[in-house]
Amino acid sequence: MSVAENLAEIKSRISAACERGGRSDSVELIAVSKTWPVDHIQLAVDAGQQILGENKLQEGQEKIPAMSPNLEWHYIGGLQKNKVRKVFGLFHVIHSIDSLKLARYANNVAADMGIRPKVLLQVNIGKEEAKGGFDVNQLVEVFTELLDLKSLSIIGLMCIPPAVSEPEQARHWFTKVRELRDQLEQELNIKLPHLSMGMSGDFEVAIEEGATYVRVGTSIFGNR
Ligand SMILES: *Cc1c(COP(=O)(O)O)cnc(C)c1O
Repeated sequence: MSVAENLAEIKSRISAACERGGRSDSVELIAVSKTWPVDHIQLAVDAGQQILGENKLQEGQEKIPAMSPNLEWHYIGGLQKNKVRKVFGLFHVIHSIDSLKLARYANNVAADMGIRPKVLLQVNIGKEEAKGGFDVNQLVEVFTELLDLKSLSIIGLMCIPPAVSEPEQARHWFTKVRELRDQLEQELNIKLPHLSMGMSGDFEVAIEEGATYVRVGTSIFGNR
C-alpha cells in the first residue's frame, strides 16, 4: 500500500476507535517520520498530513527547513540539555521533558529565548530502568514546582509503556496515565488537555483510553 493509502486507513481506524471510546474531543495523528528522507515524508504531506514527529535533533535540522513552513513538528525523542535550545528553535511541541532537572533547565533556556514552548511531561509508567521519564509518585510530588516554571507551557503527559505482544496488554498502562492526569487536574485545579500515547501497534487502545496525540510511524511510512 502507498503512504497515502496507509494514512487513509490509519485515519479511519482512529475514527472507529474514537467512537468505541465514546470520545467527543479530538485525536491528532503525529506521523513519525524518523529515518525517512524528505521525499518520502512529502508523500504524507501531499496526502494532507501536517503534523510530523522526529526523535533526533539532527534529523530535524536536515528536514524541517527543507519542507513546507506550514507543517507542525513534534519532538518525541530523548532530550539532552545541550540540545534544548536548538530543539526549541525548530520544533513546535516537545513531548519528552523527562525530569525536574531538565524541566528547570529548559525553562531557563525558553526564558532566555523569550518563548513559551508547549511541552509534555514524559512519565515512566512501567518503571523501566532503561526508559526516561518521571516516576508516577515523584511527578505528583514535584508538580507544583513544575507549574512555577513559567516559561514552559505544560500541556499534558506522554508515555512509552513497556513492550507487549498484544495491544490489549498495553491498555492498563494507558489507563494509569489517564488516571494520573485526572488526579493532577483535580488536586492542583489545572488543565492538562493532552495525552501523548499509542504507536503503530497500540494506538487504537490508547485512543479508547483517552489519547489526544497518537504517534504512528511504521504503519504510515513502512518498516524502518
Ligand atoms: C518511533 C517512535 C514512535 C513510532 O513508532 P511506530 O511503532 O513506528 O509507530 C512513537 N513514539 C516514539 C517516542 C518513537 O520513538
